[in-house]
Amino acid sequence: MRNIRQLEEKEITEFVVNLGEKPFRARQITEWVWKNSVLDFDKMGNLPATLRKALVENFSFSGLKLNQEQISKDGTRKYGFAGVDGLIVEGVLIPSRDRVTACISSQIGCPLKCTFCATGKLSPRRDLLSGEIFDQVSLLQEYSHSAYGRGLSNLVFMGMGEPLLNYENVLRAIHFITSPLGMGMSPGRVTLSTAGITGGIKRLAKDKVKFELAISLHTANNEKRNTIMPVNKNNPLPALSEAITQFHSATGTRITYEYLLMRDFNDSLEDAQEFAKFCRITPCKVNLIEYNEVEGTEQKKSLPDRMQAFVDFLESKNMIVNVRRSRGEDIDAACGQLAGSHS
Ligand code: SF4
Repeated sequence: MRNIRQLEEKEITEFVVNLGEKPFRARQITEWVWKNSVLDFDKMGNLPATLRKALVENFSFSGLKLNQEQISKDGTRKYGFAGVDGLIVEGVLIPSRDRVTACISSQIGCPLKCTFCATGKLSPRRDLLSGEIFDQVSLLQEYSHSAYGRGLSNLVFMGMGEPLLNYENVLRAIHFITSPLGMGMSPGRVTLSTAGITGGIKRLAKDKVKFELAISLHTANNEKRNTIMPVNKNNPLPALSEAITQFHSATGTRITYEYLLMRDFNDSLEDAQEFAKFCRITPCKVNLIEYNEVEGTEQKKSLPDRMQAFVDFLESKNMIVNVRRSRGEDIDAACGQLAGSHS
């Protein structure tokens, strides 16, 4: 039976009209499914009993189900969700004083195999469906209310997978996350983070998306980047730079660069200079992230004085720099640590 969260609104309209119902019933069903997240047809109180019965007979809510919750000593929570095929995907809630950020996944495993990332060590399994991506957000919204007494303020696609390799499903999910028919979250609070798929970034530009774009850059030296991010071989920095420029001209959005500081690899002043030069192409801001060491990888966390010198250099160039301390490291929920290790 098809998961109703996979249907387009026009398919729901066709279904209700074929049953002899008025087309406005499709809008009511859509609101139950996406806006109210009611996952039980019998609870859709404003629908006639015959229509509810037909829905039960034809569709299911076969989305993600909670498999495991882990709570870090810093309040971060990691959730394992199982798909109908039993494969596990992970999402994380990161609370802070003024926000709760949900970090969600777009694929199970990841084909890009960045050397510093635990997800990249898994065999790539499959793309998440748009309904499954939405399920993560809707479940995390519920858990955020029960754990912290407030809902999600921000959403980042920085969990497992490369979102631009699952373009249609990710964009359809974001549509329902940001639409008044769905969760109604402001697009400015949603960030898609990519390892640098240039074709996908150009497509986002063409689609004039309203959400934020982050690039996981990690070094602005092309040869070095080839050694840690195989994706760079087909999407080298000059091509990435061109795609970012196109994105900015089409959308006017400021780019965010993610930069994991790894000891003696990308944390010298020369690295900072190269990075600052790359960033000049468009208005931007920078998230410098403390690297979380991953078993089986060579990279190490940068030392505090090297990190500070790196920050000072960027700030001396008037760049907007946020330093992101590691969160949820004790439960493998930090950046680059999602690997479904409990599955
Ligand atoms: S860092 Fe992101 S793109 Fe690279 S392997 Fe990990 S999940 Fe994939």
